[in-house]
Amino acid sequence: MEKLLSNIDINIECTYMTKGAQMPFCKGCGHSHILRKLDEALLKLKLNPEDICLVTDIGCIGLADYLFDKVHTVHTTHGRSTAFATGIALADKVLASKKLKTIVLIGDGGAMIGLLHIVNAALLNTDVTVIVADNFLFGMTGGQQSAFSPIDFITQTSPLGNIIPPLDLCKVAVSSKAQYVARKISTDKDLVDTLAEAISYNGFSLVEVLELCTEYAVEKNKLKGTDLIKIAENHEHQLGVIENKKERKEFSVSYIEKFFKSESDFNLFTNFISPDQNTIDFNSKFGVDQIGIIISGSAGEKVQSSAAMLCQAAAQSGLFTTQKNDNPVTQGSGFSLSEVILSPDEIYYTGVDSPFAIIVVSIDGLKELKSQNIFEKVNDGTIIIYDESLDLPVQTKKMYKLPLRKICGPDRAALGGIDVLLNLIEPFPLKNFHSLIEKRFGDYQKIYKGDLIGMLRSN
Ligand code: SF4
Repeated sequence: MEKLLSNIDINIECTYMTKGAQMPFCKGCGHSHILRKLDEALLKLKLNPEDICLVTDIGCIGLADYLFDKVHTVHTTHGRSTAFATGIALADKVLASKKLKTIVLIGDGGAMIGLLHIVNAALLNTDVTVIVADNFLFGMTGGQQSAFSPIDFITQTSPLGNIIPPLDLCKVAVSSKAQYVARKISTDKDLVDTLAEAISYNGFSLVEVLELCTEYAVEKNKLKGTDLIKIAENHEHQLGVIENKKERKEFSVSYIEKFFKSESDFNLFTNFISPDQNTIDFNSKFGVDQIGIIISGSAGEKVQSSAAMLCQAAAQSGLFTTQKNDNPVTQGSGFSLSEVILSPDEIYYTGVDSPFAIIVVSIDGLKELKSQNIFEKVNDGTIIIYDESLDLPVQTKKMYKLPLRKICGPDRAALGGIDVLLNLIEPFPLKNFHSLIEKRFGDYQKIYKGDLIGMLRSN
């Protein structure tokens, strides 16, 4: 790093970068060209700096984020920048301005580590532009061979020359249904136009830019910049704009159609109240600022999907909620357990250390609670709702023994237990939970074989 910072070869002023930013790269490194041209492409597009998010990760090119101080920048873990960018782009399109242009700057080392993230972003067609600064090796970590190293390429880890054919990332992108794919040379005069075209596309685009690492590649391989075309041609790696279809819907468009506008039971946002509008004061109602609920039963008896309905109803009521599931590797046998947290504020830890309520509906569920020592964490005030067939090893002041399995059936025992709990504490309007039940199972009055809530009241 010290070496990088002391070898400064370009001093430029521009709109999106820090005024007077000095490139920190080794003398002659292609990264300087790429960043200058990216800056020019942004200028050409006249994008508002607030509408640009640059996502980088480990590698010399990852130093770009501190140079672009006018735009949003996110520095991530090695190879994962495309995954972060996919989430950022989707969040903006669905929940925020819908204007953000999310640009990943990644080296070939990072692209190799995060290849599946690139494939996934391309398949989704999220509005992300991935610019791969491909100098055929890992520069920052000492010049090791990458999946992009050409045949016979000499690196620190292939001192006699690479014998593995290099990956054709552009072909991978095209076969992953990417709609805009280009491979350029960092000194190409029209690289600015290509980058601008890629960024302006509302969907996934990839531009691989071939360049040289002057520190680790040039001397060892006796290379000049003009050799880059030959390297591409020798491996039949097409240069120029390879794909430019722009026919697919951007992912958030399909996502919004499916999950916001559809009338299906799985529309998470039906009647959704923003947390800003939530008026529930947990502290005055429960004496705590969030409540944790453990629901435990048998695999295959819809414990986790019932817990998900609880979370959905809570979210629709303007609460924050999390669900942490646990079950054996074999999904259809043994226990099934969900830890649910409800809170009027954001939740930063998803485990339930001290349960406000426990619902246990089968012997498998009870065994698991015992094996996790959950009953050691209860106090006198913990609400425990349990099936009449079970013998519990604890006693609190709020025990509710009910024929959950008999009245609700094994598949709806957890749902019935949750319904009982909500009737007891009403952390949000009950109708929000009941309307979800009706959507899924039909008339609420007919979903249990008896009057469960009446039994609760006479308990
Ligand atoms: S990629 Fe190579 S030339 Fe460029 S900054 Fe890193 S080590 Fe130096």
